Amino acid sequence: MFPLEKLKQIPTPFYYYDVEVLNRTLQQLKSEADKYGFVVHYALKANANNKVLNAVKSYGIGADCVSGNEVKKAVETGFSPEHIVFAGVGKSDDEINYALDNSIFCFNCESSQELEVINELAAAKNKVASIALRINPNVNANTHKYITTGLEENKFGINLWELENVVNSFNALKNLKLIGLHFHIGSQITDLGSFKSLCLKVNEIQTWFEQRKIKIENINVGGGLGVNYYEPDTYLIPDFAAYFKLFGDFLEVRKGQKVHFELGRAIVAQCGTLISKVLYIKKGVNTNFAILDAGMTELMRPALYQAYHKIENISKMEDGKWKMENGQDTSAIYKYDVVGPICESSDCFGKAVSLPETERGDVMALRTAGAYGEVMSSAYNLRDRVKAVYSDEI
Ligand SMILES: *Cc1c(COP(=O)(O)O)cnc(C)c1O
Repeated sequence: MFPLEKLKQIPTPFYYYDVEVLNRTLQQLKSEADKYGFVVHYALKANANNKVLNAVKSYGIGADCVSGNEVKKAVETGFSPEHIVFAGVGKSDDEINYALDNSIFCFNCESSQELEVINELAAAKNKVASIALRINPNVNANTHKYITTGLEENKFGINLWELENVVNSFNALKNLKLIGLHFHIGSQITDLGSFKSLCLKVNEIQTWFEQRKIKIENINVGGGLGVNYYEPDTYLIPDFAAYFKLFGDFLEVRKGQKVHFELGRAIVAQCGTLISKVLYIKKGVNTNFAILDAGMTELMRPALYQAYHKIENISKMEDGKWKMENGQDTSAIYKYDVVGPICESSDCFGKAVSLPETERGDVMALRTAGAYGEVMSSAYNLRDRVKAVYSDEI
């Protein structure tokens, strides 16, 4: 339930983070992962706000980074370097050097070319870099094609048919130590069957390494657990129990091996909401437009990959419930195309969205926006950078 009276006073648009939801999510995540001794890293790219990072850190969760600045942010936030992993297909020399200087736990390496560069840079510093090979398992995540990463046609990871050469090359790369295997098949995965397919593939790949007498200490299965964008209130916290149980059931963990996860969206999506006000209701030919003061500059996901966010007119709620008229709730009696002010036709949050009768000045909530929302915001059209507001600070 939103503190409407307080939110009304704050200039819009802004991200509103429910700190209690974040903490409850982290508690559940941690307690379910601990049952299996799984190690969890948080993917900073989903949301890198200081307050979020500090909360994550306080639960003993590590950091998963995909840029040098994310590694820097993790170090500066106080994540211990032995809990920082660094992935990405295009790590620059500066980024690699920074990570080497800070002795992070592991580089998740995505190509043989990258292995050579890390080896060279590590040699120059007289260091040995710990490496996990990011293997492309060719498993379909059954999610949007822009957020699928584990198929051969994707740019990520080392393909299975390249593995023999890559593994042999390690003999000559004296400043690298192979400590693990890494996989990440995509994001917003709601079909747990995709993770089962991943487990079975990882089991096969483990056998391949065993046959070559190569010991693998760490298996990192990446992230990608999806959240429910349609019914955020019913499914406020992802089903971590079922998720981890699946890996417990199907992943064949070898003796002494550690299993790592890298979750982003599942941890932070539901605690965040983009709050915006209606500027104008514009009557169209076939449709009415609700024009908001937030647009794709604040929340890019709909424009970028046709993502759905539940839209609510919280001004038309009373005590967290929809107003009643003639015995019926009024939550969905009109339809509006809900759009932003940016000069792009893709700047649209939803077409024919069912809403109560909506007026200028109404406060609108775009739900499930805590992940890949604020971090992707931009200054296009010279817009001000969107602000963050926390439930325990207002
Ligand atoms: C983005 C990313 C993640 C996190 O993905 P979510 O879908 O947010 O859980 C994990 N690992 C890597 C390598 C990533 O690029």
